Amino acid sequence: MARDSDSPRPRGLRTRAVHGTTHLPPGAVSTPIVHSSTFTSASIDDMMHQQELGADGSFYQRSGHPTLKAVEARLADLDGAERALLFASGMAAIAAAFLAHLEPGDHIVALQQSYGGTTELLHWGAKRFGWEVAFADAREPDAIERALKPNTRIVHVESPTNPTLCIVDLARTAERTHRHGALFFVDNTFASPAGQRAIELGADLVMYSATKSIGGHSDLLAGVVVGPAKVVKPVWKARVVFGGIADPTTAWLIERSLNTLPLRVAAANANALTIATRLAANPEVVRVFYPGLAGHANHEVAARQMALGFGPVVSFELRDAAQAQAVVDGLGLISVGPSLGGVESLVTLPTLTSHRMLSPSERRESGVADGLVRLALGIEDADDLWADLESALARSRVPAAR
Ligand SMILES: *Cc1c(COP(=O)(O)O)cnc(C)c1O
Repeated sequence: MARDSDSPRPRGLRTRAVHGTTHLPPGAVSTPIVHSSTFTSASIDDMMHQQELGADGSFYQRSGHPTLKAVEARLADLDGAERALLFASGMAAIAAAFLAHLEPGDHIVALQQSYGGTTELLHWGAKRFGWEVAFADAREPDAIERALKPNTRIVHVESPTNPTLCIVDLARTAERTHRHGALFFVDNTFASPAGQRAIELGADLVMYSATKSIGGHSDLLAGVVVGPAKVVKPVWKARVVFGGIADPTTAWLIERSLNTLPLRVAAANANALTIATRLAANPEVVRVFYPGLAGHANHEVAARQMALGFGPVVSFELRDAAQAQAVVDGLGLISVGPSLGGVESLVTLPTLTSHRMLSPSERRESGVADGLVRLALGIEDADDLWADLESALARSRVPAAR
């Protein structure tokens, strides 16, 4: 953890988001973007040395480059981890982590509620690489433990989950996973490094779609893996082999976004709690899914493990699909679109996006009702967001029978 030289007090997250651990020499405040696909050396011996240094060397852009290394150092420090790797997308990061740590015949336990791309990746790995995959229901406290087998190599979770905001007790799951001798992976995208300290809660490897809160401005695609050097090293190798590294411009944009990450996450999380509370009191709304509400099944666990509030995503259930569509189409300030963690609020219908491929009964079983709406809150004024929602809800009301 970063400390000022004259003080033993650990620096706060907002300071670390801006300064990282390094004191820059006088000069440029912003890391220069080095656009170079290759790096020259003074001699063949020096070039061989750079190549051997791997992630720490300057050899060829696919193995690492200066703009990327600067942001990776800041990302690792922010999560309290030894190493971080930046990828071209969240899926490139997650795929590299699995490819690095699974061999044919290895068993992986993931959640039924996993991100759609992750579920597809696991099915793909099962078919082509011989991974043995089990899906545990995040709503059942002991489902992960029951799914463990002698050959379980990885337990991979998300918390909160999409779109019904299930909460997994990360410290407890880490302890059970480690007792079993497996690695504990956390996709921490929904909470972000500012909102949930997954490494400190016991994760061996933490993954992010940096496309979401870390990037935060809906203008790039990126992914991150953080963890101890010995768990990250094989993931670096997978990144070199499969080539999913982030380019210099993306790396620089991520570094710039990190400066405001804790502020943006705190603002979006505060908006989400305000909106969830008002939705819960609205007569049109059947049910609200948000871990910040006292009625949520795992509210206490969420309060313990989420540092800056309960995340930017709120889902709510309306009477039926027709009302959900009418409300979403009736919004003005809040635009229709997938994704989350940007400065602007977005809304989507999970039945038509992430859960489109499931049958209605499979959807109901996973808790995704026909009238479910998913809101991803941005950093706008909560009263403006609520005015938009409230009027769309009022216009969707069935006229009272006379
Ligand atoms: C978006 C997302 C991903 C995939 O990230 P991309 O950057 O789109 O590849 C993975 N996990 C979660 C939880 C996500 O929300």
